[in-house]
Amino acid sequence: MPASGIENLSQMLSVGWLTLPFMGLVALAIGSFLNVIVYRLPLMLERKTRREAQRVLHINVTTETKFDLVHPRSHCPSCNGIISPWHNIPLISWVMLRGKCVLCASPISVRYPLIESITCLLAIGTISIWGYSIAALLYFVFLASLLTLLVIDIETTLLPDQITLPLVWLGLIVSHQYVDASDFPHPMSSLVGAIVGYASLWAINQVFKLIRGQNGMGNGDFKLTAALGAWLGWQALPTVILVASILGLAYALFLISLGKLSVKQAIPFGPFLSIGGCVTLATSDFPTAFFSL
Ligand SMILES: [Zn+2]
Repeated sequence: MPASGIENLSQMLSVGWLTLPFMGLVALAIGSFLNVIVYRLPLMLERKTRREAQRVLHINVTTETKFDLVHPRSHCPSCNGIISPWHNIPLISWVMLRGKCVLCASPISVRYPLIESITCLLAIGTISIWGYSIAALLYFVFLASLLTLLVIDIETTLLPDQITLPLVWLGLIVSHQYVDASDFPHPMSSLVGAIVGYASLWAINQVFKLIRGQNGMGNGDFKLTAALGAWLGWQALPTVILVASILGLAYALFLISLGKLSVKQAIPFGPFLSIGGCVTLATSDFPTAFFSL
């Protein structure tokens, strides 16, 4: 945390005594929306792929009910019962209902309150570092996207282009827009970061393929690393990849020791890249000359 972080923290606690709880509530609501994306986006992509396959194969497309981020209304995946807004309050409802559906009493995943709480912590964390500023808002968007990708990758081993690619572009635009600000990397560092981020993981995967005869990573991992390079600058990439590799290896060895993973099985790398990006951002000394190319 930079020296100004302490100042911002005290400013946040004194001046923002009312603003902070409000921001916390907004962050909880955003966390609730991230839960919707985590659950629905992979299903939307699956439906889209199936429709395209049916069209190519000239199979009669069955009419499906509308399914997007807002339709149908929130419902319990076990009993399909509609969840009333009263039972859909972020964090509070889960605690009040003791993690069970009010209609059928089947358990509601702890993932819901967990994502909401982490989103809230990300908001407080970014405000404590950057104060109430555009930089804090932008880094919150960056970290919330990483959190969403992390959970989707754990659950489906996918890193959707719908999140990774806009994240690459946004990182490039932000560094270009705030060219004089020390909170973001230099535009050239950001551009090189995106290219080198993609290329380095692609190259590592090519070597892996030569040795093992199979892919060790997916295209999504390359795009996510490009996004991390665009947001953090190329100088941050060695740290990001090192932290991600150490964590990934430690986790894989842990699973192997428990007998839950064979040596030949793969684990998603996206979550570790996301954590690597978050750790690198949190430990980097903003604002410093670190990002000047
Ligand atoms: Zn239910």
